[in-house]
Amino acid sequence: MTNITLALGDITEQSVDAVVNAANSSLLGGGGVDGAIHRRGGSDILDECRDLRASRYGKGLPAGQAVATTAGRLPARWVIHTVGPVFSTTEDRSATLASCYRESLRVADELNALTVAFPAVSTGVYRWPLDDAARIALTTVRDADTAVTEARFVLFDQRAYDAFETALNALPPA
Ligand code: ADP
Repeated sequence: MTNITLALGDITEQSVDAVVNAANSSLLGGGGVDGAIHRRGGSDILDECRDLRASRYGKGLPAGQAVATTAGRLPARWVIHTVGPVFSTTEDRSATLASCYRESLRVADELNALTVAFPAVSTGVYRWPLDDAARIALTTVRDADTAVTEARFVLFDQRAYDAFETALNALPPA
């Protein structure tokens, strides 16, 4: 069973087997978590992302999918890059957001990563409301079939932490 934990802080400082990146589909870096991971992790991560683009993702990594690189200078072994959906008021993209978490855990299992740190995917530049994003993230991870022992949600500010804590306490029984 996966133990879900919450932490307030910076995902680039987490000592875990794998850190999940809220990447954009280009895989070539961006702002937010993505910028922080590339800045702190160093150029090895970007080099591997470029190789992935050239070999497998010429059109970019589609939203809801996940792919791994090594973690450069981060205190983790792997970075799992996933692309969240942009929030839409006219289209329900919840399944794609859930897929980010499920696919990240599937990649973690392939890597034999037991501890995984997640950011709140899509809640920054992609504007997904925190409460809803937290509910989707927590339900999906709680219900996933995975060997990961700890899924640590690393929330960057108190507002995000509170949203995840409230959603965790309100999680319906499995
Ligand atoms: P997206 O494009 O998927 O919305 P962002 O990186 O813009 O991705 O934001 C996702 C979430 O990550 C936001 O809640 C943002 O506050 C948070 N965040 C930004 N930097 C960090 C960091 N260094 N560690 C953890 N979370 C972060």
